[in-house]
Amino acid sequence: MTDIIGIDIGATNIRVALASDSGNILKLYSEKTDRLNLMEQIYGKIDALGDFAGIGISSMGPLNSRTGMILNPPNIDVSNVKIVELLKKRYGKRCYLLNDCVAAVLAEKAFGEGKEFENLVYVTLSTGIGCGAIVDGRIILGKDGNAHEVGHFVVDSESKIKCNCGGYGHWECYCSGKNMPKFARYLLETDYKQEKTALRDAKDGLTSELLFKLAESDKVASEIIDRIGRINAAEIESIVNAYDPELITIGGAVALNNEGRIMKPILDHIKEYRYLRRPKIAITPLGNKIGICGAVAGFLYFDGKGILD
Ligand SMILES: [Zn+2]
Repeated sequence: MTDIIGIDIGATNIRVALASDSGNILKLYSEKTDRLNLMEQIYGKIDALGDFAGIGISSMGPLNSRTGMILNPPNIDVSNVKIVELLKKRYGKRCYLLNDCVAAVLAEKAFGEGKEFENLVYVTLSTGIGCGAIVDGRIILGKDGNAHEVGHFVVDSESKIKCNCGGYGHWECYCSGKNMPKFARYLLETDYKQEKTALRDAKDGLTSELLFKLAESDKVASEIIDRIGRINAAEIESIVNAYDPELITIGGAVALNNEGRIMKPILDHIKEYRYLRRPKIAITPLGNKIGICGAVAGFLYFDGKGILD
């Protein structure tokens, strides 16, 4: 038996799959994350999937890959879940936990656009923002496995906009799916205070989905989306300067559902920054399966299957 269970835990959705060791998804469950009964939800899906060799988990951070614990992610109400210990005890199989973006860049390298590259970065623009990096053919993990929490890079040190992590002015405050409406409301009260816009009528019903929809017809909404794109471009340029990658792939629901509106400002504005030679920048071909593919790739990596060789 060489099939692997992959678990992709996000703040909004959870996916549990049985996959071959070449990354083919054989069976997949996808549903809303049960924030109150996370482990029961996972057990139920694994029990229905049949025999397997081991389990790879890709989860939002922060977490500790070495102790196998999900700590206190800002976008979901769980804390200090000893997920690896619980799954090992229940199933008696090898089990590994990775930060979701670290897992995703392994998936990009093993199964996606990154096969030919030794230096690549995956960026997710979703409920939160993060990235994973392979540099000189080696995955970068950090002391607990939380390297590249780039969503909490400070965009504006004097910002009044609070991040879900408690800090101020972080990239996520402006550009994550969860916080874009907060940024838009802030701009309506400041820079666009005098402007007529359909955004104002939405009040508490303003979501990132509505913001993108209104951007097609409403001048202020369109300008706000472009401003978000400019911030994305600046922060992706910071990633280029940190890792000097040959390839950056971008995924996450915000990017995948609004490809043109997200990618165009990134590709336009990043030309304004010219410090290093440009990498290729593209949407990930793995789409919304990159998380679950990352859980499988993470298992193969930690189990010594040489996916970076
Ligand atoms: Zn933050």
